[in-house]
Amino acid sequence: MNMAIRINNLTKRYGSFTALDNLNLEVKKGEIFGFLGPNGAGKTTTIRLLLGLIRPTAGLAAIFDLDTQKQKEAAHKLVAYVPGEANLWPFLTGAETLHLLEKVHGKVDEKYRDELIKRFALDPNKKVRAYSKGNKQKVSLIAALASRAELLILDEPTSGLDPLMEQAFRDSIKEAQSNGQTVFLSSHILGEVEVLCDRVAVLKSGKLVELGTLAEMRHLSAVTIEATFAGKPPTVDHLAGVGNVKVHNHHLSCQVNGPIDELLRVITPARPITLLSREPSLEELFLSLYGDGGGRK
Ligand code: ATP
Repeated sequence: MNMAIRINNLTKRYGSFTALDNLNLEVKKGEIFGFLGPNGAGKTTTIRLLLGLIRPTAGLAAIFDLDTQKQKEAAHKLVAYVPGEANLWPFLTGAETLHLLEKVHGKVDEKYRDELIKRFALDPNKKVRAYSKGNKQKVSLIAALASRAELLILDEPTSGLDPLMEQAFRDSIKEAQSNGQTVFLSSHILGEVEVLCDRVAVLKSGKLVELGTLAEMRHLSAVTIEATFAGKPPTVDHLAGVGNVKVHNHHLSCQVNGPIDELLRVITPARPITLLSREPSLEELFLSLYGDGGGRK
């Protein structure tokens, strides 16, 4: 039982529209796995299928080898789920809501729950209707974390949290991992994904376009080279893999896909005064993956 999540050929169609197209994915026990993609990519659809909340058109989703369509109840015992928009009961207080959610999860670490209430600075005595979006999210998150469930499935759990609470979230997720739990995290916050996730999947228009560690993905994207010369910069446009060439006085910048040795062979004889090679930032990487033509497939 080493796979926390196994998704095989999972497809969901709404009429002629394909929301999820033949997804294959495995998440190992103990991993923090990031699930990324632009709006409408199919992330929430995948999570709903994974939880057995909707029926697939084709394929299978399993949690710890339990088919979430056929063995939904047994699978749910191992999972805590934080939906993107938590529909909580407006007339209950935060504390009452936590108690109710604990009953749903069936187990709770009360000491840890109280510690989380302090860590997330939640006032549990207020009614849910008086909570901001961020405070509602805190209630769902605290309930999920305090359940110590084997698998945490979190759908954009931090979109309403301020930076201090974001740090509390990161600490809690790291703690969950040290506790042996697995985390499946759908997020738009790239810094969060970079700090937390062991591996990442990127979905676009219902299709998986990338899967791997962020370090692996960085190498797929172009490297930026910048150089200054005493004289006129050399011509590099014709070189294989070189693009986006910009020359300004003595300064040259370009992007290189693949090995940079060809470029260096042209640059070096022109005696550069400065030479800088920069890997893509996370933002650049994801813009290239999310935008037109992104991904390998
Ligand atoms: P976001 O980041 O905006 O939350 P997402 O990646 O979670 O996006 P989904 O909510 O999974 O995206 O939606 C994927 C696509 O499926 C969207 O185009 C959405 O409009 C469509 N879709 C989702 N549910 C239904 C439904 N019940 N009927 C028809 N289309 C649907």
